[in-house]
Amino acid sequence: MTQITTKRNPNAFLREDYQDLVSKALNWNLHRLDSGSLPHSTVDGKKVIMLCSNNYLNLSNHPKIIKAAIQAAKQYGAGSGSVRPIAGTMKIHFDVEEAVARFKHTEAALIYQTGFATNSGLIPQLVGEGDIAISDELNHGSIIDGVRLTKADRAIFKHRDVGDLEKVLREADKKYRRIIIISDGVFSMDGDIAPMDKIVKLANEYGAMTYVDDAHGEGVIGPDGRGIGAHYHIEGKIDVEMGTFSKAYGVVGGLIAGSRDLVNFAYNKSRTWLLSGSHPPAVAGAQLAAIQVLETEPQHVRNLWENTRYFKKELSSLGFNTGNSETPIIPVMIGDSAKAKDFSNGLFDEGIFALPIVFPMVARDKARIRIMMNAGLTRKDLDFALGKFEMLGKKFAII
Ligand code: PMP
Repeated sequence: MTQITTKRNPNAFLREDYQDLVSKALNWNLHRLDSGSLPHSTVDGKKVIMLCSNNYLNLSNHPKIIKAAIQAAKQYGAGSGSVRPIAGTMKIHFDVEEAVARFKHTEAALIYQTGFATNSGLIPQLVGEGDIAISDELNHGSIIDGVRLTKADRAIFKHRDVGDLEKVLREADKKYRRIIIISDGVFSMDGDIAPMDKIVKLANEYGAMTYVDDAHGEGVIGPDGRGIGAHYHIEGKIDVEMGTFSKAYGVVGGLIAGSRDLVNFAYNKSRTWLLSGSHPPAVAGAQLAAIQVLETEPQHVRNLWENTRYFKKELSSLGFNTGNSETPIIPVMIGDSAKAKDFSNGLFDEGIFALPIVFPMVARDKARIRIMMNAGLTRKDLDFALGKFEMLGKKFAII
């Protein structure tokens, strides 16, 4: 037996790896919310304007959605008792799936535990040996992990570059059985939108399947926030529209919308779906109510966009660079990572919560403050925040 060295001592190597992250300033220091995720939240004991939550429409605080969660828990209990395929499918889970299909104008829909579980569980089943998965270079980590789990070959196309995608498709066409093209709908670092209309057209020419991760598009883009299919008027034409309840819907949970064939395939094959417990009834109740709120209360999406347009316009006129943002994700470009962190700390001291995005999440010279706009903020809140951005922008010589 070999001598056990410190290399095998769990606490020693865990500590060493953690210290390595700390020394490179790549570790996360967690902030603590002492309130709900509110437009005016309390974070680490301090009242701040929330500019970095995914709760775009402030639905996590909507009275009808909270009430629906409580009612579902009272009616069905705290937990579902099982995985969906055994004894964990309750009527309320089916109700949510029906509502999603109705809202997205698709034939069918399926709910997963999370968006991450959707991408990592479904993508590996859609392609296998002899196939190829083609991804936008800036796709989300859960897509990257899903693709890693396939036995298919992989290719990358340049960000939102349909010409480059066609080049990859031309090559792939000769060699592979199935082809899947996967893209984020709204890209979470820059807030730009994938050209899904053009991607779908190209995919049709090559007989490729299309898969869009619309985590940041659902509840945000398209009429009533119905997402990227509605945004481009191509509802039902994207083979897999994947999304999440953890962002604009204000709850948690992954989803896919598409054909009945897709749904039948997906729930029989996705290991994350088959082998993991289903949502507690309160979650399903809140999901269902969130869709009903989107269907009946258009003011939330309208407020989100009014706030977004105003804030972006004012930031630009102050001299800030907001990159290629087309959505409520607004990057305020700073450049250097250390400066972006100092800027964010400065904002926090002034009562604004907006986090920096730094290397390795983005290129070394592309550090930024990423703002996620919120429908619940007032014009007064936005003007207050803009004043602080102006003051710090001058202090850090950014504007
Ligand atoms: N896709 C994208 C683009 C995301 O931003 C996220 C959340 N960070 C996910 C998928 C995962 O969604 P969920 O939070 O539901 O696991």
